[in-house]
Amino acid sequence: MIRTREYWQVKSAGLSPEGRAFIDGEYVDSVSGRTFDCVNPATGKVIAKIADCDQADVNLAVQVAKERFESGVWAKRSPTERKNVLLKLASLLKDNMEELSLLESMDMGKPVEVSYSYEMPELVAYVQWIAEAVDKLYDEVAPTGQGDLALIRREALGVVACVVPWNFPLDMAIWKCVPALAMGNSVVLKPAEQSPLTAIKLAALMKEAGIPDGIFNVVTGYGEAVGAPLGLHMDVACLAFTGSTEVGKYFLRYSAESNMKLVWLECGGKSPNIVFADTENLDLAAELAARVFYNQGEVCSSPTRLLVEESIHDEFVSKVVKYAEAYEPADPLAPEALMGSMVETLHTQRVMKFVEQGKKEATLTYGGELVCINDSENFIRPTIFTNVTNEMQVAREEIFGPVLSILKFKSEEEAVAIANDSIYGLMASVFTSNLSRAHRVAEALKAGTVTVNTVDMISPLVPFGGVKQSGNGRDNSLHAFEKYSALKTTWIKY
Ligand code: NAD
Repeated sequence: MIRTREYWQVKSAGLSPEGRAFIDGEYVDSVSGRTFDCVNPATGKVIAKIADCDQADVNLAVQVAKERFESGVWAKRSPTERKNVLLKLASLLKDNMEELSLLESMDMGKPVEVSYSYEMPELVAYVQWIAEAVDKLYDEVAPTGQGDLALIRREALGVVACVVPWNFPLDMAIWKCVPALAMGNSVVLKPAEQSPLTAIKLAALMKEAGIPDGIFNVVTGYGEAVGAPLGLHMDVACLAFTGSTEVGKYFLRYSAESNMKLVWLECGGKSPNIVFADTENLDLAAELAARVFYNQGEVCSSPTRLLVEESIHDEFVSKVVKYAEAYEPADPLAPEALMGSMVETLHTQRVMKFVEQGKKEATLTYGGELVCINDSENFIRPTIFTNVTNEMQVAREEIFGPVLSILKFKSEEEAVAIANDSIYGLMASVFTSNLSRAHRVAEALKAGTVTVNTVDMISPLVPFGGVKQSGNGRDNSLHAFEKYSALKTTWIKY
């Protein structure tokens, strides 16, 4: 079936998204009764009223999550039983892909077809992978020798709070909540205030899949009102966060000021992408370099600093500009749209401030302006700056919008030095056809993931996360389970 713009428009007109929090298996208003508006940034229209929760709601959610954890209603189920519930969740996500991608698009502006055709199937595959893994994890026996038996097992932690951002609202929620649940924990999820709709819908799917009441809760609201009380709560055992480096640091502080809860941080990035003149397929490299505009550039791991060897610089820049043109902003409901709307007006203004600064410091080679669609001015044309040096603001700060900064280098050493001169270390990429150079540079780059002859590779099979101020811990792969469990030794003398 072909899903046209009209098809999605009719679907979206028929939606009335749930905006209440979800505590103890029920949708509930905030204790205060307050709500705030959820606005579609691509149209400026209010699409839901969201429960404006605070400390009182957090206390209720954490209390029930703790009680249910201790009751063993979920934690004491066998890994195989938990696997089966999570497999049911994966199949429900699949059945609801249309609604989920539409909610995601209306909530934060991304092209609905990209979400439906690409992100949602990946998410279903992710949940299946985590579910399938959980009853294949074996524990350890230490080599203590005869007369002693030391069993080393992984135990659930208790209440895990997950605080997530708005750029991939459902992905980020699921990346954290599903492995946490798989290990037997209870979860309190706080979605970003800009994009709570799919997290709220997820709660109903969790219940339908068979997650017991109180084991999965969603508390909606603002960062200081909900995120901070979760970070400071004495009964939260672990706080898993994805968001900015600035807020990530608050969570370390909240932990120190409360119960020393485990804090896992997936924070910002300013990923370098180094293109050497010896790259065999420069067209492919240019096409992938322009992927920086995917998701409106609102991607933590985007290769936003493009380092090009001087001898191919001008030719390569022209190629990147050609591929950037495909990301012309469009109505997110148009099936051909590759670039939708920024998440909210405040963020559009923030990105445009960086663009204005870039125009003063560097050379604007493409874009750099707002585009008005559906009477909304939250659309930004892909923007490319050249003659950028690494001291400039557009090279140092995470803009989190469709802005690419291009720098020149002359030698491998210089490229590596520029690439590593950043407070971030999430991802890095290198394009070359020289195998030794590929290994040498990959080894020298300080990042959680280095990709060679490709960019921004993410899969359930492979750990994802950063070093330096990009954070700690890893999402995805079997390593994700490490975040949501503690090692417990039982030492038996016989
Ligand atoms: P943000 O840090 O502003 O907000 C993230 C979450 O923290 C939201 O739920 C927000 O309500 C909450 N929050 C805000 N202030 C808080 C406070 N004082 N106390 C407690 N909680 C608070 O980030 P954002 O603007 O939603 O998202 C963009 C950022 O997320 C970028 O920096 C991006 O790099 C990062 N991000 C990182 C990854 C990764 O995996 N490394 C993935 C996606 C996004």
